[in-house]
Amino acid sequence: MGDDTNGQGRRRGSDRRIAVIGAGPGGISSAYFLREAGYEDITVFERAGEVGGTWQRNRYPGLACDVWSHVYSFTWNLNPAWSRSYATQPEILAYMIRTVDDFGLRTYVRLNTGVDAARWDEETSTWVLSLDSGEEFVADVLISGQGMFGELRYPDIEGRDTFGGVAMHTGAWDESVSLDGKRVAVIGSAASGVQSIPEIAEVAGHLTVFQRSANWVLPKEDVEHTAEQLEAFADPTALAEYHAGIMTFLGASTPFSNPEINGAAEWIAACAIEVVEDPETRRKLTPDTPWGCMRPLFSNHYYPTFNRPDVALVTDPIERITPTGIVTADGTEHELDVIVFATGYEVTKFASRIPITGRGGRSLEEAWADGAQAHLGITTSGFPNLFMLYGPNTNQGSLIPMIEYEAQYAVKAIQAMDAEGIDWLDVRPEVMDAYNERLQDAIDEVEVWKGGCSHYYLAESGRMVTQYPWSMFDFRESVSSVDLDEFEVGTR
Ligand SMILES: Cc1cc2nc3c(=O)[nH]c(=O)nc-3n(C[C@H](O)[C@H](O)[C@H](O)COP(=O)(O)OP(=O)(O)OC[C@H]3O[C@@H](n4cnc5c(N)ncnc54)[C@H](O)[C@@H]3O)c2cc1C
Repeated sequence: MGDDTNGQGRRRGSDRRIAVIGAGPGGISSAYFLREAGYEDITVFERAGEVGGTWQRNRYPGLACDVWSHVYSFTWNLNPAWSRSYATQPEILAYMIRTVDDFGLRTYVRLNTGVDAARWDEETSTWVLSLDSGEEFVADVLISGQGMFGELRYPDIEGRDTFGGVAMHTGAWDESVSLDGKRVAVIGSAASGVQSIPEIAEVAGHLTVFQRSANWVLPKEDVEHTAEQLEAFADPTALAEYHAGIMTFLGASTPFSNPEINGAAEWIAACAIEVVEDPETRRKLTPDTPWGCMRPLFSNHYYPTFNRPDVALVTDPIERITPTGIVTADGTEHELDVIVFATGYEVTKFASRIPITGRGGRSLEEAWADGAQAHLGITTSGFPNLFMLYGPNTNQGSLIPMIEYEAQYAVKAIQAMDAEGIDWLDVRPEVMDAYNERLQDAIDEVEVWKGGCSHYYLAESGRMVTQYPWSMFDFRESVSSVDLDEFEVGTR
């Protein structure tokens, strides 16, 4: 068992030791709100060599925000300088790094330090973290900001490891690989495929897109901000008003529950497909599932890419990968230099991506055998003083505001413990169950998620564990205060 004091003998109030896993938007928000509340003993463990999370790790060409950048911003550091409506990855990453440095948050971050496991020690009521450096670290509170997209998903294709050329996942893009003039394949036509395919087509000698199922792709009004707009945003009041204006609309919306919005979105996407000249390609690009059934996608460049003579769309299933390329079920051999896997991420594990052991030696993985679940997406029964950001069923709208609401809830819970002289709190199972029953009932009412094509959102048990069925403002309201009656509490 580790030393329960980290050598400092401090436990409550502003001295409470708080460990945070990950320095993406979740870890950054946590450090900010904790410090604002007077907590100073904060350690943010980040496996990577820099902060920024998703935006640090993902570097594939074409990666950009798919919500307006002005609302994909920390509310405490709105950015007057966003160059366009939907900023690209380098600009978002630069903003994250700047935020951490300008707000003096780097002092809390331990880069190149992964948390391999965490165990709740019932005797000392502390979390004991095993770090990849071999150290143990003891904390009173654990905030998991591991994010949803930390684990790459590869398709189960025969011969995948036999390819003799370059094979890379969009989520682990190798910037040293030149695609100039190469014969490139992209497997997958969902979010990262739609963003990267137009960019890859610009440089590749030939691009073959292997599509399993077609997705609706909406245009986005992605424009550079004018000098006048940038000048206006430089006024903090005007910037805050602009932010509030977008939030008023986005925060209140529940697009998937509204058949009229779904129908309109599908019609707009169907019109966008009309740009594709070849009728057969157009047909193949047209989904047979309703809009909203899968993750919504946005691009102004995706469909026009299929008019290029050097781009082919293949919908025959992939039979195997060989040392020289891809063979499809119709027997065609596609000779290739590079295969790009735009096949997404394992999204249903949340904090259980590392072994986390709670009360009674029960692991999070065991507790979630039927799929991840939490009260308000943040706390889960049997794991005291564990707060999860971007946890189960919190995927909705713009994720930075959602994560901010969650981080603020964690801070309020810690403050409530301090006010009551409590060392730990653990959400009561019946409270968590009642919340999840209500949540799953609401999910069942979203018609477009019932079509059988939303499997990306489902745990193995078939339960939808990623999506939030209500609005961002509903979520904000639900986590605006902490009710200690919902928790079992204790002292050391
Ligand atoms: C390609 C892509 C595009 C996206 N586009 C949008 C968008 O347009 N709008 C939107 O709202 N959301 C988008 N998202 C979702 C995005 O992940 C969230 O907006 C946001 O980044 C989540 O922040 P986070 O801090 O929870 O997780 P992340 O950003 O994923 O950060 C998690 C961090 O934790 C670190 N970490 C994980 N496990 C450990 C460990 N055991 N020990 C130490 N460190 C660890 C990781 O290295 C990472 O730095 C996108 C996601 C992807 C993958």
